[in-house]
Amino acid sequence: MYIYADNAATTKMSAAAINELISKTTEEYGNPSSLHSIGQKAAETLFNARKMIADLLSATEKNIFFTSGGSESDNMAILSAAEHGKKKNKRHIITTEFEHHAVLHTVEKLERQGFEVTYLDVHENGVVSVSELESAIREDTALVSVMYANNEIGTVQPIAEIGKVCYKHKVLFHTDAVQAAGHLHINVLELGVDYLSLSAHKFGGPKGVGVLYARNRSLVHSLIEGGAQEFGKRGGTENVPAISAMAVALKESCENIESSYGKVCQMRDRLIEGLLKIPHTVLNGDRISRLPGNVNVCFEGIEGESLLLMLDCKGIAASSGSACTSGSLEPSHVLLAIGRPHEIAHGSLRLSINHENTPDEIEKIISVTTEVVEKLRSMSPVWDDLQKGRKAHVI
Ligand SMILES: *Cc1c(COP(=O)(O)O)cnc(C)c1O
Repeated sequence: MYIYADNAATTKMSAAAINELISKTTEEYGNPSSLHSIGQKAAETLFNARKMIADLLSATEKNIFFTSGGSESDNMAILSAAEHGKKKNKRHIITTEFEHHAVLHTVEKLERQGFEVTYLDVHENGVVSVSELESAIREDTALVSVMYANNEIGTVQPIAEIGKVCYKHKVLFHTDAVQAAGHLHINVLELGVDYLSLSAHKFGGPKGVGVLYARNRSLVHSLIEGGAQEFGKRGGTENVPAISAMAVALKESCENIESSYGKVCQMRDRLIEGLLKIPHTVLNGDRISRLPGNVNVCFEGIEGESLLLMLDCKGIAASSGSACTSGSLEPSHVLLAIGRPHEIAHGSLRLSINHENTPDEIEKIISVTTEVVEKLRSMSPVWDDLQKGRKAHVI
């Protein structure tokens, strides 16, 4: 039995999305910009996918832009808002310390170009404070970018409240909703966002395709010059089969929210309860305001990388943080942002489950992790120091 508990890194494609991808690849090979009927059939599929996604987000199809994924959507939203800001001499951006690197590295690029960036504290619980955000808004604030749910610790941010504050101060607002999609209902009007990013492979769709919602087309500046695709805002022949499969996956996952939410929350809670029985273990991120499928803990005295490898050997796929930071020796910027000291942040484990997991798998994860943590601690010099009192416990 192999247990997949790394759905925040990527999900297995749903059967319906695979079928859609194959059938559209086989039958609709036309270029949607071609005038002949084969091309027009692809154009129709493209239109239908756009309409379907717009409906699911309570948006209109003219506000849906297809991109290559979450990273591109984040880049496009932030750079678009920056362009817009420059025209009004607004060069200040507010974001948080624990955004995805697609956001952080983009605002860092803008900092090098003369923008000023305020990084909001996310506190120990991993949730931004709306009043702190409001106090950070200035006359020259061009954009607020706050993720809907964090990809490492799963904490859910008060997006609708932030939307109201941004509206009141007439500041553009972007949210990276990549981790929220398919788990939480997304209504762009209720959230009050100007831009919202999605990525298909996080909700059962194919990799390499995503969405940028923009409240107003004039708020979008192109990153990729080329043909007139995507309302002239993104050149390049559309990946119609992938886009159509993404629409199918989004519909399916949104329709399943009702039935899977409670079940996944129950498994998550059992997992948290079981793992916290391991001594000197702490949960990362707010207990309540978190995604149904996210568990993230730190075990004192061990290395997350060794833990992952041993879990993998025992048939459990997990992560020590985001896929992008694993492999590097730097501890996760998210765990540092919630105030975990370096030595604790190194011993982190993220398990991201969904409706495909079962209660039996959860019990297996708990027993195997308990066993592996004990084994690693028995070999760890740091743990030995802690046991013998040469070093004080942090957790
Ligand atoms: C995965 C992820 C992204 C990047 O999406 P890609 O489609 O892989 O480029 C951006 N933001 C968050 C929060 C993510 O989890």
